[in-house]
Amino acid sequence: MKLEVRLPQRGYAIHLKKGILDGVGELLRQTFQGPKVLIATDSNVAPLYGERVRNSLERAGYATQTFVFAAGEASKNMNTLMDVYGVLADGHFTRSDAVLALGGGVVGDLSGLAAATYLRGIRFYQVPTTLLAQIDSSVGGKVAVDLPQGKNLVGNFYQPGAVFIDPDTLSTLPEAEVLGGFGEAVKHGAIMDENYFARMEGYQTIADLLKDSEKLIEGSLRVKIGMVEQDERDTGARMALNFGHTLGHALEAATGFDRYIHGIAVAWGMAAVARGSVAMGWMKAEDARRLNALLERFHMIPEVNLSLDDLMGKAASDKKNFGGTLTLVVVPELGKHEFKRLSLEELRRFTKEALPW
Ligand code: NAD
Ligand code: MG
Repeated sequence: MKLEVRLPQRGYAIHLKKGILDGVGELLRQTFQGPKVLIATDSNVAPLYGERVRNSLERAGYATQTFVFAAGEASKNMNTLMDVYGVLADGHFTRSDAVLALGGGVVGDLSGLAAATYLRGIRFYQVPTTLLAQIDSSVGGKVAVDLPQGKNLVGNFYQPGAVFIDPDTLSTLPEAEVLGGFGEAVKHGAIMDENYFARMEGYQTIADLLKDSEKLIEGSLRVKIGMVEQDERDTGARMALNFGHTLGHALEAATGFDRYIHGIAVAWGMAAVARGSVAMGWMKAEDARRLNALLERFHMIPEVNLSLDDLMGKAASDKKNFGGTLTLVVVPELGKHEFKRLSLEELRRFTKEALPW
């Protein structure tokens, strides 16, 4: 199946198919004629899928080189970025060549920034291998690295030339990472697509979810693509994707970003916002119950023992806090969303309702 992202400057295709790893080279030939591809990947993904992708590219006549860095968020920094530049420069990559990201969001964000800036920008392609990357980070063009001061502080918007998604790669993904991605999928359904949400309510186990991976990914991508097409630079409509993120991000920040997988923090944030929204009369109680039940079934709402002050301190320093007010995304009913502009004091009162203690 092929989905299109339509953007004013340059749109691109998302190819979604089981087993597509072995056909990446052939498909890439349809859009990219350059001689050379740098496969950027991490130490977990390289031994699993590196060779299949490399072989496919070489069968299609590309020269390849592979750069492997240590897996994990800790690598998404300037040092690794310098390493990628070094490999590109030493390998005499030119503007006729390309970078292909093979891995999760860390690989995509980091190598996307390298591609966006090396020689002022060379071709960039994504082969996402985590559920989160397949439904979220590989589409939309946000590329970045972290600084010691915070996550994603140096980056840009740089859309890929194409995205190739093989749902079969999820078979090797740790279950915790599958659920992290599923948190964002549930979010996509909750804010935009009640039918898609209902489809996910049909999953009883992770095995059910993986059996339906192609449809799961497609449903999420349709929501994400719609958002990106409306608002490529994330200044308006795309902010709906922040549902669950204001409080989820505060939870991550208050726990040092290493306690919860991002999508689990988002799940917790969505459940909290749903609870607060019902108390405020902003959400149908039955729909909050459905959202909660789906997240609970997969044990995605962790028990949190943080004080309101800890949480609010972090929410106030959120990068989306403009001049003392924040935009909170709420879901009046499943498949719809609204923005509420709240002062920090109002957010505090809301959060008090939203927390179970
Ligand atoms: P990740 O890239 O760290 O991958 C998670 C783990 O899974 C890693 O250990 C990785 O090596 C491993 N892995 C990847 N694919 C595998 C596979 N098929 N089988 C086995 N192991 C595999 O994390 P992620 O959750 O994919 O991405 C998180 C990053 O994405 C964060 O840095 C976040 O800031 C970024 N992000 C970016 C956007 C965006 O729009 N650009 C959106 C959301 C998140
Ligand atoms: Mg997110």
